[in-house]
Amino acid sequence: MNRRNFAKTLAATPVMPALANQEYEKRTRGLPPLTIKDVKVITTSGGRRYRWVFVKILTSEPGLYGIGSAANQYQVDAIVAALEKSLGPWLIGKDPGRIEDLWQSAGFRTYWRQGPVNNNVLAAMDMALWDIKGKRAGMPVYELLGGKTRDAVACYDHAGGRDRESAVAAVEKSISQGFRHIRVQYGSGGYGGGGFIPPGKGSRPEGGYSGPAFDEELYVDTIPKVFDYVRAKVGFEPKLLHDVHSHLSGINAVEFCRRMQPYQMFFIEDVLPPEQLAWYRQIRQVCATPQAVGEVFAHPYEYIPLITERLIDFVRCRVAAIGGITQARKIATLCEFFGVRTAFQEGGDNDPVNQMASYHVDISSTAFGIQEENQFPPQVHEMIPGCAQIRSGYLYGSDRPGLGLDLNEQLAAKHPLEPFPRGGAYQTDRAMDGSVVKP
Ligand code: MG
Repeated sequence: MNRRNFAKTLAATPVMPALANQEYEKRTRGLPPLTIKDVKVITTSGGRRYRWVFVKILTSEPGLYGIGSAANQYQVDAIVAALEKSLGPWLIGKDPGRIEDLWQSAGFRTYWRQGPVNNNVLAAMDMALWDIKGKRAGMPVYELLGGKTRDAVACYDHAGGRDRESAVAAVEKSISQGFRHIRVQYGSGGYGGGGFIPPGKGSRPEGGYSGPAFDEELYVDTIPKVFDYVRAKVGFEPKLLHDVHSHLSGINAVEFCRRMQPYQMFFIEDVLPPEQLAWYRQIRQVCATPQAVGEVFAHPYEYIPLITERLIDFVRCRVAAIGGITQARKIATLCEFFGVRTAFQEGGDNDPVNQMASYHVDISSTAFGIQEENQFPPQVHEMIPGCAQIRSGYLYGSDRPGLGLDLNEQLAAKHPLEPFPRGGAYQTDRAMDGSVVKP
């Protein structure tokens, strides 16, 4: 094209109508600068003896703030102090839009990084920053992560029975409520049910521990028989799960998974403690029982080899325990490449903000496998409007911008934290000789 013809072409280009031009300008101009003005820490029992810690990050734009969860009921005071005295002052004046940069720099700010308290603090910040970004964009966070990959997030229900008949009844109740995925625990006394010798019974050391005593071989013998009975009664359509809570040691974990294979489990959770992850290679060699692992993981080097060596089928971190949405999204992407799925932990002690953070990663990730359910009483829905809702086995977010929920500070303040018995410690299970059983 010669110079004269090029000039003619320019002259023939239609002028953009004024209104369209304004609209284009509005959509392409940069957002005005934003800074973090305040970091508030909000604790509450939710009226139900929860031990929740939330962070609220306020920005220089009036009314624009974000909320995050630091869910870890066992170290509440340490997390509150770390947020109030350390992270909060460090964040003031920074740009909340630089989520990845803040995630990195906040993580290295303590020099010694990772670990539960650091991760909880990081997660609370991270969720609040994503909340702010989504509100600013006028979009739910999942839109910023690439949009929905599914219509809703499937959840697994919790069922349990003191005996085989009541276990079947609990599974049938879950099915009637619309759940396709049901975790079945057995016996009384929490996790490890089916493996405890009653208090005072059995052959014990003189003058020693007399409480309920966990016995690995008893557990390995009991639980497969329970699932044999449940499968015989409810068939193979419901997808059944079971959580061992790290109670077994190496070869017993291998044998347990081998014995559970006929019952076509959706997954067995935490059959080994994080200190014994190498045994997953042995499990893979003897059976195809799917493995879900990682509720207590706090460091990437716990889950990275399990995923990249395809030794597990579901990674099961709590989003608030690994550093928030930013890290959960990276884990999900790693899982996608290696054919592993996500099963983010929620659990009964956990809060709606952590649940919603999980939801945004779940619904936008191809690697999603399942989400643990958690339902909240009416006063929590009032205190945290926009809570995700579970209907017929699926979790639905609010679709509002950001995380999609809010926190009524006045209502939260009406339910202060209650004193923690035993300093808030997780209970310690013991074996017949009084030695500690890993949780
Ligand atoms: Mg668990």
